[in-house]
Amino acid sequence: MIIAAYAMGITVGYNYIHGEIFSAYERFEDALEEARAAGYLGDRILGSKFSFQLHAHHGFGAYVCGEETAMLESLEGKKGQPRFKPPFPASFGLYGRPTTVNNTETLAAVPWIIRNGGQAYLECGRPNNGGTKIFSMSGDVELPGNYEVPLGTPFGKLLELAGGVRGGRRLKAVIPGGASSPVLPADAIRDCPMDYDALAKAGSMMGSAAVIVLDETRDMVESLLRLSYFYMHESCGQCTPCREGTGWLWRVLARIHAGRGRPGTSTCCSRSRRTSRAGPSARSGTPPRSRCGRC
Ligand code: SF4
Repeated sequence: MIIAAYAMGITVGYNYIHGEIFSAYERFEDALEEARAAGYLGDRILGSKFSFQLHAHHGFGAYVCGEETAMLESLEGKKGQPRFKPPFPASFGLYGRPTTVNNTETLAAVPWIIRNGGQAYLECGRPNNGGTKIFSMSGDVELPGNYEVPLGTPFGKLLELAGGVRGGRRLKAVIPGGASSPVLPADAIRDCPMDYDALAKAGSMMGSAAVIVLDETRDMVESLLRLSYFYMHESCGQCTPCREGTGWLWRVLARIHAGRGRPGTSTCCSRSRRTSRAGPSARSGTPPRSRCGRC
């Protein structure tokens, strides 16, 4: 971030950290102290004319704060709800000032790229999918955690790094890019290179690269029910189709899970999802898009 700030002539930066991983926030605060003591941060860095203040800020665990304008609202001390765009943060961002928003993973790659060159970074991955990616392996694996590998690493290799499927059970399915990416059955993912193009071709997406592994004992309806509860809980409540629709999806799925599904239930689910995607905007009367693009 210091290098990026120097390149852009920025004097103040914030690292927004999810509030539910407080230990990461504390560790980052310690790292800031060390950097200040070493003269890498603060006024006149290393005796130069460049000054940069970097602050850590922890949110309170809202999923939608992964959307940049919701995060800016939260940083300003307001409810973490996405703004209408335009204006975009580059012209009207934090406290109304031009703001560059990027994720920590991207900024963390900058020193390596400066030392080794952009071409070397690109060559880490596959054509059109250069560089490395941090995959967060969770679910039914022996060693859940974050694994940085070249883009295009086969899923099987990634699973091996995470210790394989828990308890030696068989793989049933994988959600490769976070809760909102389509689930892939074991046969579709096992040999799939983990990169943008290959996952799209397989019918899913890279998304946040938060990989959820499901073993053979998992009940897919129950898993879907759990995910729909998450979305109902995490709806920021700004757009009516999302606020109401996610609750309806959860209730319908709970009915199916309890063995009380009715003819037409799946139509009802897809209609609810379509409405979420296409509900008219109250403000403009036009396009039918949610503020965060989530639904
Ligand atoms: S779709 Fe609308 S209500 Fe749902 S999380 Fe995004 S901004 Fe909030």
